[in-house]
Amino acid sequence: MNKIEDLRRMLPKMDHKSYGMYKSLAGSYDYGRYVLHIDHVQGDPFASPSRLRFEISKRNHGFPEEYQRSKVRKLSLEDQVLRRFGGSLRRMDKSVMGSGKSGRITTCRTGQKVMERIAVVFSEDKMELRFEMGFPARGRSILAREMGQLLFEVLPKLAESCLIYKNWDAKSKERLQSAIWLADDQEALRKELEVRGLAAFVADGSILPRESGVSDLPMKNAVAFSSPPEKRISVTLPHKGEITGMGIPEGITVVTGGGYHGKSTLLKALEQGVYNHIAGDGREYVAARETAMKIRAEDGRSVKHTDISMFINHLPNKQDTTDFSTENASGSTSQAANLIEALETGSRLLLLDEDTSATNFMIRDKVMARLVSEEKEPITTLLCHIRSLSERHGVSFIIVVGSSGDYLSVADCVLQMDHYEVKDVTKQAKAICESEGILGLYPEDDTKLPVFARKLMPEKTGRLKVKAMGTDTVLIDRESIDVRYLEQLSDDGQTIGLAYLMAWILSNVKKGTEICSLADDIYQRIDKVGFEYFVSKNYSCGQPVLPRKQELMACISRYRQAKLERK
Ligand code: ADP
Ligand code: MG
Repeated sequence: MNKIEDLRRMLPKMDHKSYGMYKSLAGSYDYGRYVLHIDHVQGDPFASPSRLRFEISKRNHGFPEEYQRSKVRKLSLEDQVLRRFGGSLRRMDKSVMGSGKSGRITTCRTGQKVMERIAVVFSEDKMELRFEMGFPARGRSILAREMGQLLFEVLPKLAESCLIYKNWDAKSKERLQSAIWLADDQEALRKELEVRGLAAFVADGSILPRESGVSDLPMKNAVAFSSPPEKRISVTLPHKGEITGMGIPEGITVVTGGGYHGKSTLLKALEQGVYNHIAGDGREYVAARETAMKIRAEDGRSVKHTDISMFINHLPNKQDTTDFSTENASGSTSQAANLIEALETGSRLLLLDEDTSATNFMIRDKVMARLVSEEKEPITTLLCHIRSLSERHGVSFIIVVGSSGDYLSVADCVLQMDHYEVKDVTKQAKAICESEGILGLYPEDDTKLPVFARKLMPEKTGRLKVKAMGTDTVLIDRESIDVRYLEQLSDDGQTIGLAYLMAWILSNVKKGTEICSLADDIYQRIDKVGFEYFVSKNYSCGQPVLPRKQELMACISRYRQAKLERK
């Protein structure tokens, strides 16, 4: 391996030479306590910046062994190291060093959630931290002095203060310990959901609303969550001790209330409750079952070989709905496909908001039923199947309803939002349904789940170009996959992660692999060998964050170029 002295020797010879000479710096350099890898050198000062990586042995980083004892702890540790590194970068001198991205150092951005990333990875015997740096230049000529400053002053300072535990100040160590404990508590809370047969839990005192529609930060001066006495439970967490809050039981829960009273805000918090939030977020102890999926209408999406016959039958063009494909789904067919495909991913908690649902998928009123006869209506509404989906197939629902009263009749639990406060109105709702004569109008039927057997038939491809835009679009060889309605994607890095995983799948998967087992295999592999395995060596479209299996399968389902088959 090269030594730092080699760098000191090479650099002056490059001064004012053409930018391409920087390429010769690619390689690994021993800095004593850690190694600097220059993995990829950018072609010119305006291209995407060069990619570098610190590697430090376990003995030299010295982070407590017990902080890596479980998966959630390890993720939390990695998250904290990344946040510290990111914080140091933000505080750095931003004066311009030269043309383009000269001297700019960046790494994976962090938000309100703790997620699996490749930016910082602790493994058995070492830790690695990935970042990008613009190699300095004036025009297209190398600025060796500035590069020396980065390599011999800036980077060592960053490494010493972030990579080595004993250099962390007391306050930072304390914050790290709290983050590890929070991870333990969140894991315990999630286990408790399963043990007690709960779909979700919202702790008293939680802050659910966000600062704005485009910010994930907590709203200031929001009304803190308080649970209705009928649904209040207490949970004892290993570090925090006893907390109380609302336990939403499995089954069918309807959230109702007047407009603007906070219904959608509660549902959004539950959608995001599949992730662990950082301290101070307000949703630290809001947890939903981790397979939970938001189901909404998505006009225009592509559907491939999905059996939506449970909801849609005898279409006017005689299309077979047990093997349904379209390049342009309607509101109701898209929502039916979204629901069925969610079940295909193994999700057993579905979250719906009337505001983003197709009305004809949700309800059909008596007047309409008289005018348009049963045989002329292809849609069987969710109302007709919901009891049996819940009772026979163990699928729970949390549905926000403002105007479709019939849903009250099928609900196990009815919650009302009243000035941001939750009330349990199950009894009142049942009494009203009884007096209106609608109780039992939609009994359990013999709904069967479709057989999930969609297979992927990829054609051999060369290296695929991948890219992502915000949380909206994944690009594979310039073909875009529209993922904007996967509302639980919450970090730009997750779409980058989707892009890498899709590329890996398309170039590595054997023809005829069922997408269910494919996704299971991938996530098991990630648990064993890490997410990096699936990111091509020359990762080039930014630092990925691991999406859930649910979103990966949803992304495959939306890929218009995908070759899928059914039996
Ligand atoms: P609904 O779905 O019932 O019409 P929303 O959930 O969209 O209502 O909430 C309406 C507005 O109230 C939003 O701007 C939201 O940010 C705000 N809001 C929601 N919950 C709270 C709360 N607990 N404290 C303060 N404002 C809130
Ligand atoms: Mg709403």
